[in-house]
Amino acid sequence: MKKMLIGSQWVNAKDGRTLEVVAPSDGQVFDHISRGTAQDVDSAVAAARAALCGAWGALNATERGRIMMAISQNVLSHEEELAQLEARDTGKPLTTARNDIKVLARYFEFYAGGADKLHGETIPFLNGYQVSMLREPLGVTAHIIPWNYPAQMLGRTLAPALAMGNATVLKPAEDTSLSALRFAELALQAGLPTGALNIVTGLGEEVGAALAAHPGIDLISFTGSNEVGTLVQQAAAKNAVKCVLELGGKSPQIVFEDVDMERAVPIIVRAIVQNAGQTCTAGSRLLVQKSIYENFVQRVALEFAKVRAGTPEMDLDCGPLMNPAQLQRVQSYIHQAREQGIPVIAEGQIAEAAPRKGYFVQPVFFVPVPRDSALANEEVFGPVLAAMPFDDEADAIALANGTDYGLLAAVWTENAGRLQRVAKAVKAGQVFMNCYGAGGGVELPFGGTKRSGHGREKGFLALEEVSTTKTLVHYHG
Ligand code: NAD
Repeated sequence: MKKMLIGSQWVNAKDGRTLEVVAPSDGQVFDHISRGTAQDVDSAVAAARAALCGAWGALNATERGRIMMAISQNVLSHEEELAQLEARDTGKPLTTARNDIKVLARYFEFYAGGADKLHGETIPFLNGYQVSMLREPLGVTAHIIPWNYPAQMLGRTLAPALAMGNATVLKPAEDTSLSALRFAELALQAGLPTGALNIVTGLGEEVGAALAAHPGIDLISFTGSNEVGTLVQQAAAKNAVKCVLELGGKSPQIVFEDVDMERAVPIIVRAIVQNAGQTCTAGSRLLVQKSIYENFVQRVALEFAKVRAGTPEMDLDCGPLMNPAQLQRVQSYIHQAREQGIPVIAEGQIAEAAPRKGYFVQPVFFVPVPRDSALANEEVFGPVLAAMPFDDEADAIALANGTDYGLLAAVWTENAGRLQRVAKAVKAGQVFMNCYGAGGGVELPFGGTKRSGHGREKGFLALEEVSTTKTLVHYHG
């Protein structure tokens, strides 16, 4: 049974209730977490506020950076333990989980270096005046994260907030809270002062809703579905609290006839099966120029058919889906597409030894998918690839921009001019050119356009997002 962190205390939920922790690879309960309440959220926000007036608020930027570097190193010293925990909790292959922990450490390393490097400015003004602009923390920042990359997500959202001197309250996803709780122990061990990080576990509609609506927070950073993102934004609006929203995606891989096939094919397959397709930046739409369409989708199909799903220990291409609801959602998309007669060109396999009670789904590649179908427009969040042909550059751009989302895109062509033109015309927060980086790159500003959200994480822009400015105007004569 895992407790929550409020101030310096590890506590049970106020009413003592708990939630089961289930392993997606075998459906077995293997631990419990606290089912936090709105009262627990009140206590966590109060503890964070107190930290700003206490030891945490008294640190200068360099001192904060040193603590963050110590946290990064402590995470790396416990890499295998954290990876095993993350793999059990999410079902993902061990190699993927190990990488996720490295990325968590990297977030703290990167923002440790950033803590004392986002400076204010002096501004030329009227004679007799000295004007300066300070860069300050926002105050108490709230962070709600999803279950797909729990360790990476907590690093992505917490590290810049702490680097800028905010005090934080984290609500991990109810399915995957274990790595966050163990991380918090390691952060305290590394010297993070009391109240700088508070964690309230529990259900979204209880803990998450209470946090989003809390008048004591100064920012809410939310990563998750569009439906819940809208609720969070509505709740925050009532208190005029700023939101950073990282929502869904339907990212296109745009492949022109002069693509380097050898290079592109394995990357394209990996970009959809990684994490069993449960990646906001999954390359779920494959748009291919008509002249090479047949040949190219056959090449992708050969690679796709090699994909294997299994348990963390089997360490194959992907694991199971997260929970029964997610399994049912993905299966219903697949079922509906089959019912509509959309052809399947290739399927991956579930390893024979994978437990029957695990939430596994067979990866599927549909070709060709009608442009107005659900598979062409909606986020499935599973290992389902949808291919469509296009005529020319203009058609490719229109098709790529034809969904509500705008998170990532990739352009594949050996023509440098076309590469630039298409990359500039596509609406997305990141565009990869002859490569793909789902989730990668701590240094690279990341975030959505259109319904994929707003605000930026990663890179130096994240530091601006979680801080504010104060302009000082001094008349000295
Ligand atoms: P979700 O929206 O169901 O849950 C996300 C978080 O919100 C969880 O912690 C959940 O407990 C909490 N929550 C649920 N109801 C809430 C409420 N009423 N008020 C406040 N919080 C609430 O999303 P999910 O199913 O965990 O994750 C999948 C979605 O996340 C996908 O749409 C995916 O694209 C998106 N996602 C986006 C990014 C990104 O960076 N853009 C990254 C990962 C996942």
